[in-house]
Amino acid sequence: MSVLICGGAGYIGSHAVKKFVEAGEDVIVVDSLETGHRAALDPGVKLYVGDIRFATVLEQIFDENKIDAVIHFAANSLVGESVAHPLKYFNNNVGGMQSLLEAMARHDVKRIVFSSTAAVYGEPTKVPIEEDDPTLPTNPYGETKLAMEKMMKWVSRADGIDFVSLRYFNAAGAIEDGSIGEAHVRETHLIPLILQVPLGKREAITIFGTDYPTEDGTCIRDYIHVLDLADAHLKALEYLRAGGGSNIFNLGSGAGFSVKQMIKAAEKVTGQAIKVKLGDRRAGDPAVLIASSEKARRVLGWTPKFDDVEKIIADAWTWHRAHPDGYND
Ligand code: UDP
Repeated sequence: MSVLICGGAGYIGSHAVKKFVEAGEDVIVVDSLETGHRAALDPGVKLYVGDIRFATVLEQIFDENKIDAVIHFAANSLVGESVAHPLKYFNNNVGGMQSLLEAMARHDVKRIVFSSTAAVYGEPTKVPIEEDDPTLPTNPYGETKLAMEKMMKWVSRADGIDFVSLRYFNAAGAIEDGSIGEAHVRETHLIPLILQVPLGKREAITIFGTDYPTEDGTCIRDYIHVLDLADAHLKALEYLRAGGGSNIFNLGSGAGFSVKQMIKAAEKVTGQAIKVKLGDRRAGDPAVLIASSEKARRVLGWTPKFDDVEKIIADAWTWHRAHPDGYND
């Protein structure tokens, strides 16, 4: 039996592929390569290049392979882009999930682990955020991920497809040997942007807002190593296979770091001074986002191993230094 990893050529998906292969799973990847990279996959991994919104693509995969479970990363994930182009997000993210669940129902595949996000909570009512807290997304990206969770909930009741939804906080870092990492065409994430300064690709990092109600006035986030996220997907699948039943878990380190603290940590890791510009707030950014991951620890037996931000930044630095222009594909 094989595990189908949708979006396995993307940033988090490609780390999960390595983790699942290491664990002895027979892995099959489907990726449209719209934002994913062929080079993020070892040549030995079986890759279908295609868009999961098309039933024919999924029919071929489910016909040619015996799939026991699906790990679903395939989605658009840029907050700003989702605000500018909401229908692109509803079409690709929600449409992709619908097509995938339909194929799973047709082929009697009963397990799915889904890549969700802290963006489903919107402006938090308290920190740390727990899974039962209100979900009021403030952008279409979070809204589509929440809609995907809800689709799985109703389908699980009707068709007996068990799901685990993993709500990531700020995914960061890279595999320790720097062979794969974060490579977006239009980078919007803090750590890669900070590291572009010592790489000589950017003059300065702009801090989005210095008047937040936090100790140093900058936003606080919970950064979680991509390898810990990959591990959580494996644990979630083990949980489903053991009959755990549908469930939702936050994944974060439980510790918050401000934008200024991240820049300081990056200076330490790179040994270089990083030039800073003070900018306005970015629309829709909550002041503080910190996860309670107590439930994932308790139920999945998951413990983040890389809970030191300097280690997370150091691993990202290894990747970016070796691949300053990302993948060459
Ligand atoms: N941020 C920043 N400057 C940048 C990019 C991001 O100050 O050039 C801040 C952003 O406002 C947020 C934090 O860094 O508070 C993390 O942003 P990112 O986009 O990496 O992740 P998000 O929290 O939006 O998922």
